[in-house]
This record gives sequence, C-alpha cells and structure tokens, in this order.
Amino acid sequence: MAHPSAKVDRRRLRRNLNRSTSVIYMLDDELRFTFCNQEWDRFAAANGGVGLEGAGQLGRCLLDSLSEQLRPFFQSAFQEVRETRQNWEHRYECPSSTLQRTFLMVIAPSPEGEGFIVVNSLIVERPHEAKPCSHLENNYADAEGKITMCGRCRKSRVLTPETDAEAEWNWVPAHLEGRRAINHVLCATCFNIYYPNLATHWSA
Ligand SMILES: [Zn+2]
Repeated sequence: MAHPSAKVDRRRLRRNLNRSTSVIYMLDDELRFTFCNQEWDRFAAANGGVGLEGAGQLGRCLLDSLSEQLRPFFQSAFQEVRETRQNWEHRYECPSSTLQRTFLMVIAPSPEGEGFIVVNSLIVERPHEAKPCSHLENNYADAEGKITMCGRCRKSRVLTPETDAEAEWNWVPAHLEGRRAINHVLCATCFNIYYPNLATHWSA
C-alpha cells in the first residue's frame, strides 16, 4: 500500500529535522538507523557520548543498543505503530550528573513511507532532588570495574550477594560523569512501575 505522505521532500524534511532541538532519528522497517539529526550529535557530545555520533549509527539496529529487558517493550511499541500507524508515546528519565531530565519519546510512522521517525524531546529539566549517595566506589564496581545501572532512573546497584529484586540502588552522580563501563539493566522499582507488561520477564 502506498502511503499518502510518501511524496515528502526528503532533503527538506532532513533540513527541518536538523533544525530541531529534539533528538530525532529515523529507522527503516527493520529498525536500522537511516538518519540521525544534528541534535543527536550535540546531545552525544554534551553527555560524554564519545564515538556515538549519528553517522556511526547508520545501518545499525536500534534493538542492539537496548538492554535485553527493554527489547520486548520497544519491539511491541514499533509493532503497534506499524499496525495502527498511530503515534506511540513514552516518558523516560535521562539524568545528567547535575540535572534531572525527563524526555518524551514519540514513535511515529515515517513521513517518507516505510519505517519510523523517533522524536525525543526534553520536557522537564531541574536540579536533582535525590540526595547523592556517598558509598565507596568499591560498593558498586565489579571485578572488571563495571557498574550496574538502571537504564531508566540511572541509580547504581550496590554489589550484594542477594538477588536483583533485593538489591539496593543508589543515586551516584559521579557514575554519570566521563566514560565508564556500565551494564544497563532496569532496577526492580522501574521495572514494576514503568514496564508492568514485562513483569513476567522479571525473574533474575
Ligand atoms: Zn530504576
């Protein structure tokens, strides 16, 4: 079926997307990056994302950058947009070491026809309310120096022998500074509150 909007002027569309202050990318139907706007690069540079420039993402699959826990959540979101051709919205946190930031993510059918356009807009930005935790570094980093962090609230997991569900998670701003080896997962709180449909996958 030909999409009525498929005649869009590609160059003009990309020019407009590059002017946006939202981080915007486009994906083909297999969820491979076909375009990242200039704000993507600005955001990556401002947040220590060395080597994450948009040009380097082209051809890569979005799902490969997601944790295993989150993959089914986004797979079903894209499937919903594919089937309904309606926009899908999701709020998420992406704090820096000094600021609490909430973004609105909108997945829409691509105006170019096949595939998707994904728009991430900053909707709330304020200083952190959570008190930073002053645990020692070696409370968090494993033998390889890797920290386990929640991909949603960005709290770090204290190394404990207990199961994930009983683990202690703390806000450690220093873990968001510079480049660190981080294993992104979801803490039990975020998992159960924000992704309840995935709760059956929570067994670790
Ligand atoms: Zn969390």
